Amino acid sequence: MSYKTKLLSTSERDIEYAAKLLADGEVVGIPTETVYGLASDAENEEAVKRIFEAKGRPQDNPLIVHIADIAQLEEYVHDVPQLAYKLAEKFCPGPLTMVLPKKDRIPNVTSAGLDTVGIRIPYHPAARKLILASGKALAAPSANLSGSPSPTTAMHVMNDMQGRIPAVVDGGSCPVGVESTVISFEDGRIRLLRPGFISADELSEFAEVICDRHITEAAVEGEQVRSPGMKYKHYSPKANVTIISGSSEQYVDYVNSHGGNGVYAMPFDSDKNKCRIPCIPYGDTSEEQAAKLFAVLREFDDIGAKQVYARCPLTSGVGLAVYNRLLRAAGFEIITL
Ligand code: AMP
Ligand code: MG
Repeated sequence: MSYKTKLLSTSERDIEYAAKLLADGEVVGIPTETVYGLASDAENEEAVKRIFEAKGRPQDNPLIVHIADIAQLEEYVHDVPQLAYKLAEKFCPGPLTMVLPKKDRIPNVTSAGLDTVGIRIPYHPAARKLILASGKALAAPSANLSGSPSPTTAMHVMNDMQGRIPAVVDGGSCPVGVESTVISFEDGRIRLLRPGFISADELSEFAEVICDRHITEAAVEGEQVRSPGMKYKHYSPKANVTIISGSSEQYVDYVNSHGGNGVYAMPFDSDKNKCRIPCIPYGDTSEEQAAKLFAVLREFDDIGAKQVYARCPLTSGVGLAVYNRLLRAAGFEIITL
């Protein structure tokens, strides 16, 4: 079906309208603190199938289910360890997704056939209002076309989803900018499946954290991964992205001697004035870089960049989330100076 996609505000009236669409089994683009999501009723198979269709998402890539309150957790999952409640007390609502054994009411399409499901409680006020007003748990992956950079503004969602869904709720720019931290539980330990704003260091105050190898390493074809999203080339702009690892001076020397038609630098803000080729900087701190990363990758598409040399971010704290996304945007192409 082709829709005339409506851009809605976060007014009470528009939230009610969007909530009605969700309750009726439609797909709506919604703001969250991490990135925009493509939401539908997590328990309605037909509605969930529409998300996969709108995104062009591979059917073996599970969706995260969003609820409003930790008190609802065991309506959807079972065998919840005490550690999950301790983490929830500190980090929920917030950008943390916990993978737990699913109850039967979560259909297999939502979990992509797995017997577990990722649950998150967003803190974004519009996301919370939509969950509550629709009376549904909302399945929501990022609201981009599969394979393109995640959307951090309503305009990004409109660019990808125009005609594919009935409405997008415009809640402004997403403050975090990268998708949630995804974890699972293993014998009292936490396994980090996808890094996000809540860092491994913060989690390690509660239990030992095992960082999954595929956070920084490409999966080879056919290899088993614990988190299906890890095996896809993600977040890719049309340009070829190469990560350049080195000091500010080394990076600037490299880009200044590799300029050319359609070649751009993606430096830190502090390198910007030293770059003699066209550039779009992406912040200095890891938090700034997380917030800007996807918007900057989309800007390179808009200007028709062919080659982008991105300065390698820090790989600690929130930087690990930035590095993980940038590595996938670069197809794991990294030059160490
Ligand atoms: P997205 O919805 O685009 O942010 O992607 C969600 C990602 O979370 C998936 O690609 C998986 O890598 C991960 N994930 C979601 N549910 C599970 C699960 N049940 N087990 C392992 N990883 C999951
Ligand atoms: Mg995604």
